Amino acid sequence: MDIISRYKELYEVVALAAGSNITLLLKQVKQFRPKIVSVQGPIDKATFRQEIQSCNCELVTGQEGLLQAAKYPEADLVVSAISGASGLIPTYEAVVSGKDIALANKETLVMAGKIIKQKAQEKGVQILPIDSEHSAIFQCLMGNDHQEIKRLLLTASGGPFFFTRREEFCNISYQKALEHPTWSMGEKVSLDSATLMNKALEVIEAKWLFDLPIEKIEVIIHPESIVHSMVEFCDGNILALLSVPDMRLPILYALSYPTRIPLDLPSLDLPRMKSLNFYASDTKKFPCLQLGYQAIRQGETMPAVLNAANEVALKAFKQGLIGFSDIPIIIEKTLNCHQPAPLREIEDALWADRWARKQTRDIIGRFV
Ligand code: MG
Repeated sequence: MDIISRYKELYEVVALAAGSNITLLLKQVKQFRPKIVSVQGPIDKATFRQEIQSCNCELVTGQEGLLQAAKYPEADLVVSAISGASGLIPTYEAVVSGKDIALANKETLVMAGKIIKQKAQEKGVQILPIDSEHSAIFQCLMGNDHQEIKRLLLTASGGPFFFTRREEFCNISYQKALEHPTWSMGEKVSLDSATLMNKALEVIEAKWLFDLPIEKIEVIIHPESIVHSMVEFCDGNILALLSVPDMRLPILYALSYPTRIPLDLPSLDLPRMKSLNFYASDTKKFPCLQLGYQAIRQGETMPAVLNAANEVALKAFKQGLIGFSDIPIIIEKTLNCHQPAPLREIEDALWADRWARKQTRDIIGRFV
């Protein structure tokens, strides 16, 4: 919304979808004047309608309302930024309606990458990454032949605990896990960054976005979050994308693609940074990363199970039922119970999601 408010002559918000932050939503409706607004959480419809009376905006609610917003006829592009598995169906429906997608919700491709890619191709829809690493790779690939890619180097900040000793992981509190060192993000992504599950999901996301075998996607730790990812080509040359860690940059690029438009933010001050550091990823300390590779190698419904198990485990961690170091243990137990089933239709991904949520809750129930 910040980006759009800077370029009022270029972009118009025709539909908005929110969860439960009604105060912020009201402010945005009054500022951006969308034609339709969808609310998922509990809402006093009469009061809300009264508040937006002068805005000429239709209020819709529930899953049906969310899909109405996602498919809104006047929209050319949908920014898919709901967090977690709930983002899958609205994004899928937007693709089916022929909207280009600016994708921030990585779970869409994790759960149903094959189906989404097929549908996007069939509908002539572009999927433009907002995730900073994928935006970096997308930009590095510009003007280069896909055949010439040797490997993608996905950078990870390592989260708040990369330098914490493994023995101390059992004492990590929920509040501590939310404190990301370099990026300002929502609760789900911050927690996933702490376990490195975020990077596992991004490896799977990259596989589908860039149509590459998983062996060509590697993760390296880069705590400063200045190099957002790199592409190594067959001749050994590597292209990297650097910028200040600010999500407004990849968001703007997804909106302005294929052109670039000026953004008034402070430039990256490399002399002040002095050094950029890189480390090998540590899958012993962060087993979630390995679980991500395992899930996508097994393929089909397995990544959807990985994602659902992770969401349930994070909720249990938030509730204090399990500790930080139990998260990967719970996810692995769930994966081990799953027999991957073919992913033919979007319903197959939803089935795997439901199966995994129940299975993970059962495992947690026995665990505590
Ligand atoms: Mg990212």
